[in-house]
Amino acid sequence: MCESAHTCVMTSNKCESTTDVLRSLQSQAVGLWPAILGSLSLRRAPCIRENCKACLSGEQHSSYVLYGKTKGRRFTVYIPEDLVPEVRRCLDNGRALQELLFEAAPRYVKALKEQKAKHSKKVRG
Ligand SMILES: [Zn+2]
Repeated sequence: MCESAHTCVMTSNKCESTTDVLRSLQSQAVGLWPAILGSLSLRRAPCIRENCKACLSGEQHSSYVLYGKTKGRRFTVYIPEDLVPEVRRCLDNGRALQELLFEAAPRYVKALKEQKAKHSKKVRG
């Protein structure tokens, strides 16, 4: 906790203002684009060709799909194999960004509380 001005100076890195948190968030997020969220999985499905060897053998065809949910609605997007590495990179960024936001939550709320405390101190004189 950052109770007094003294503690604040002693542990300056732990006593950030909302602007500090915002700035550090923004600078960390800069390198995390393009970012997307979803789950990539390999799906096996038969094709529409007749007498297809792969289908007849039960092997079928594997293709990548990206699953996700937005505004309560599920989506499924087909991902061509050559785009898989790119999509994986975006997903990694998305997860890192999400992690960053979770990490920011306690820091930002703490900064908000301190800002409020400082403000009410000023008002009381
Ligand atoms: Zn087939």
